[in-house]
Amino acid sequence: MAAPHPFSTQLIAWQKVAGRHDLPWQKTRDPYRIWLSEIMLQQTQVATVIPYYLRFLASFPDVGALAAAPIEAVIAHWAGLGYYARARNLHRCAGQIVAVYGKKWPESEELLAELPGIGRSTAAAIAAFAFGRRAAILDGNVKRVLCRHFGVAGLPGTAAVHRQLWTLAESLLPAHGIEAYTQGLMDLGATLCTRSRPRCADCPVAAGCLAKRDSRQGELPERRPKAAVPRRRASFVLISDGRRLLLERRPPLGLWGGLLVPPEGEPAAVAARCGLALGEAQALPPLEHAFTHFRLTLEPVLCRVDGQTLAAEPGLEWVDLATAAEAGVPAPIGKLIRQVASAAD
Ligand code: SF4
Repeated sequence: MAAPHPFSTQLIAWQKVAGRHDLPWQKTRDPYRIWLSEIMLQQTQVATVIPYYLRFLASFPDVGALAAAPIEAVIAHWAGLGYYARARNLHRCAGQIVAVYGKKWPESEELLAELPGIGRSTAAAIAAFAFGRRAAILDGNVKRVLCRHFGVAGLPGTAAVHRQLWTLAESLLPAHGIEAYTQGLMDLGATLCTRSRPRCADCPVAAGCLAKRDSRQGELPERRPKAAVPRRRASFVLISDGRRLLLERRPPLGLWGGLLVPPEGEPAAVAARCGLALGEAQALPPLEHAFTHFRLTLEPVLCRVDGQTLAAEPGLEWVDLATAAEAGVPAPIGKLIRQVASAAD
């Protein structure tokens, strides 16, 4: 076998003394826990993930419990983390692990990558951490580290550069210490080789870094010029009797699928649909929320009602105002509800 690359040996040595060792999903070989953390960490920061991860595990301690749970319960535990397709795929994947594999996870990265919601890089992370397999990860942070360190030019999203990065990632895999190496790559990308202002003075692989040598950290990886982000608006009616708030479960697919939100639409249309006589509508400050492909302006209005009964509209439910922000609602809706709840105090 070829001599290990200095990049890998330096990274492993650094991870052992200076990397992260106390995250709740470390110090385990349980593929269920590792998988759950890897899915939650896609697109989401560690500090945000930790409380979700712990709550999720408390309710669904193993893959059988998750597969047996209703999808609404899974979505409710995910509420606020965003990218809700991850929660739906998580549930489908748990179902397949039970039905196809009898609750025993496949060990190879190839089989793992065939499961719902698990791409090639996530499959490799699970295979490395749970089964000690020499498999290469290549998420956004790792792409940034490799592009800088090895001076890889071109857009990482293009097929040729993407292939080049996978080949490079595989060529760097150490013969021993795959867990520390994989964790080291993640730690380096998350803590030192950050998108802006990388801390090269503390970097364990700085000696061989081409971007540092040529002062090109700001230019690598190359970025696609920003396209204009489409903007959308949506009106929501927060209907409250001072004690409760009316929420509606969204259809399973589409934006915020399966989550609870206040009824969407103009107050008159919402009143007719819910069979309620609404008091005067009070406009609340609009709220901006960024999704991957568009920005949404939420235009909320607050309407008071007096202890009225609802038309038998399926999907509508009264929720205690004091706890509604934690009742399985998306993050920006949670913000709106907290405003209304604190004003009602
Ligand atoms: S030296 Fe700087 S740019 Fe190079 S890998 Fe380390 S942190 Fe990233």
